[in-house]
Amino acid sequence: MSQLVDKLADLTDLRDRGALDLALVSAIHDLLQPQTAAICRVVGEAGNERWLTTAQIKADQRVPVFDSAWSDLLALPRLAEYPLRQQAGVGKLVMQSRLYPGITVFPVSSSPGTIGVLEIATQEPLSEELSRLVSGVLRLYLNFQSLLDYGERDALTELLNRKTFDGAFLKATLAQQVAVDGAPDKRRDTSCSGSFWLAMIDIDHFKHVNDNFGHLIGDEVLLLLARLMRVSFRFHDQLYRFGGEEFVVLMRCNGEAEAAAALERLRTNTENYLFPQVGSITISIGFSEIKTGDTPSGAFERADKAVYYAKEHGRNQVCSHAALVASGVLVEQAANVGDMELF
Ligand code: GH3
Ligand code: MG
Ligand code: MG
Repeated sequence: MSQLVDKLADLTDLRDRGALDLALVSAIHDLLQPQTAAICRVVGEAGNERWLTTAQIKADQRVPVFDSAWSDLLALPRLAEYPLRQQAGVGKLVMQSRLYPGITVFPVSSSPGTIGVLEIATQEPLSEELSRLVSGVLRLYLNFQSLLDYGERDALTELLNRKTFDGAFLKATLAQQVAVDGAPDKRRDTSCSGSFWLAMIDIDHFKHVNDNFGHLIGDEVLLLLARLMRVSFRFHDQLYRFGGEEFVVLMRCNGEAEAAAALERLRTNTENYLFPQVGSITISIGFSEIKTGDTPSGAFERADKAVYYAKEHGRNQVCSHAALVASGVLVEQAANVGDMELF
């Protein structure tokens, strides 16, 4: 019993979702000694959904492994390859395999529209008592996740808020460093190549929307734009509302052309979307590659300059900071200027 309480205390000590999943499978590992315990989540668009393993531990392992959050979608198993997980995740039911009675799958999904499961493989079928114990631990885990969501997500759009950005930026630059140095880590080998890019998105003439249609309709535009962002980017791109009508994307791409194409997709999707009452709106986007040793403020400064240029030159366009520097329109900021934090 005290072991269980300790494990739960460890779990609720964490603030990082990835670490939380790893702690959960470690707790299950210590409590039940199963052959394997894994948390798997469905990622990707409808029709091409895949299983991303966010934490997995085997009986003989001391530390869990996981798929990189930046995994290549095509390297991951398809949804239909794991029908039991699918039934448990979609139906929100605990499922036990008839074919392999040692496999039990529990639904774990904190937000609507997302599918996640905890899959446990044991020598003998899991007893009802142990199954209830796992379900109880999962309820605590899910309640805790909802609390984290409350602090980290923007209430209107449910995109991430700016509080979590610095941590994600640091992780991205570290991952970039690991990719460059080739240092081993605990990720399974599914990660896609490429570098990280930061984009800033600002709605054009949004004041007119508020002035002409009122704040409530303005808020609806923000909500719908957030939805367009979700369908325009890939599952591992991280989407933020930074406040007001300013949005930020942290993404991993193979080069500038690929980053520009993803952003252009959002720009055209927005331009072509008919917003109720308002009709069409446009957005201006500036982006820049995140460099080794970059700070959030340095990268922001570059993306911001590119947005400013887009605004000054007709709006409704995607501008690359590097391309503007190369064409002599913008001057490259002095090295590390962005590193200075002003107090
Ligand atoms: P520009 O093309 O130069 O970006 O023009 P703009 O009118 O969009 O100008 P700016 O970006 O400076 O204006 C932002 C406006 O967004 C000001 C404010 O009225 C509106 N706004 C900020 N936050 C919210 C919000 O949460 N809800 C609504 N409805 N409006 C907001
Ligand atoms: Mg603005
Ligand atoms: Mg604006």
